[in-house]
Amino acid sequence: MEILLASDLGFCFGVRRAVEMMEEASERLGGMTSLGSTVHNRQVVERLKEQRIDVIASLEEVDERPVAITAHGVSESVMQELEQRDVSVVDTTCPIVTRSQQWAKRLVEEGFAVIVFGDPNHKEVRGVLGWAKGKAFAVPNIGALDALPDDLPTRIGVLSQTTETEAHFAEFVRALLERRMDRISELRVINTLCNATTSQQAAAQELAHQVDLMVVIGGRESANTRHLAEVAREEGVETHHVESADELRPEWLDGHERVGVTAGASTPDDAIEAVVARLRELAPAPAQAQASANGSKGGEASRASRNR
Ligand code: SF4
Repeated sequence: MEILLASDLGFCFGVRRAVEMMEEASERLGGMTSLGSTVHNRQVVERLKEQRIDVIASLEEVDERPVAITAHGVSESVMQELEQRDVSVVDTTCPIVTRSQQWAKRLVEEGFAVIVFGDPNHKEVRGVLGWAKGKAFAVPNIGALDALPDDLPTRIGVLSQTTETEAHFAEFVRALLERRMDRISELRVINTLCNATTSQQAAAQELAHQVDLMVVIGGRESANTRHLAEVAREEGVETHHVESADELRPEWLDGHERVGVTAGASTPDDAIEAVVARLRELAPAPAQAQASANGSKGGEASRASRNR
C-alpha cells in the first residue's frame, strides 16, 4: 500500500505558537493554568499537563497561578475581568483570531450588526461575538439565516469563523444577499478565513484526487479537522476521521491501494507519525508488493505534490 501525506497538514502556525508560548511561560513562571483546552487535541493537552499547564473550565477556577488564553481567544469581558482581578495573563490568541475580534468590535462601533458565519458553540466564535457588545449573531448555516431578527440594522457586517471553507463562506454570503436584500442598505464582508486552514483544505482536496482512501487525523471537536474530512468526502473518496492510531480499523484498507493522510491544525507531529506507522503495519501484503512494483518506497509515506 502506498501512503501519501498531504503537502500541508498538522500544526498550523497559530497552534504551534500558542503551545510554544505556554511551554515557555510555564517554565519561566513555574506552572500555570489554561482557560479551556489549549487545542482540540487530547495528546497535546496531556503533554502540556506534564509541563504543569492545567486546563481550567471557567473563570471561577482561576487561582493564584497565571492564566493562558488559548489560540481560540476569549471575549472582551473575560479579558477585562482577568485584568480587574489582577491576574497575570499569557495571551496566546492566534493573531488571525484577534483580527476577527477587532473587526467585530470595529463594525459594531461603526453601526453595523455583525453576522458571524460559524458554529455558535465554538470557542472562537463565542469569543468573537463577545467583542461585539451583544450586536453580533452566529449563524451556522444558510438555513439558520431565517432565524435572524427582523429588526437588525440595515448595515450588516459579515465575518466567518476562521476555519470555514472559502466555498461555504461564499455560498453563505450569496444566500444572505438573496434572502435579505430588501433589508440591507450596506453589506461589508470581511474575509476572516485563515490561510493556514484554506491551504490545508486545498492540499486535502488535491490529495483526495490521488488516492482511493483518506485518513484524517485530529480531535473530534476540532472544527478544522472535521472540515478536512468534509473536503475529502466531497471529492467522493472514502474518508475516515480518527483521533489516534489505535482507532484505525484493518478492514478499512481492504481493496484500497493508495491511502492519503492529512491532519487538522491542532494535530501534533507525533500523532501523524503514529498513524502512518500503524498504516504501514496494517497494509495488506499484496498491496505492499504492488506499491513496490510501482517504484514506491515499499509503503513509505511521501508528501503529495501540490503541483499535480
Ligand atoms: S487554524 Fe488559523 S486561525 Fe486557527 S489557530 Fe491556526 S493559524 Fe490561527
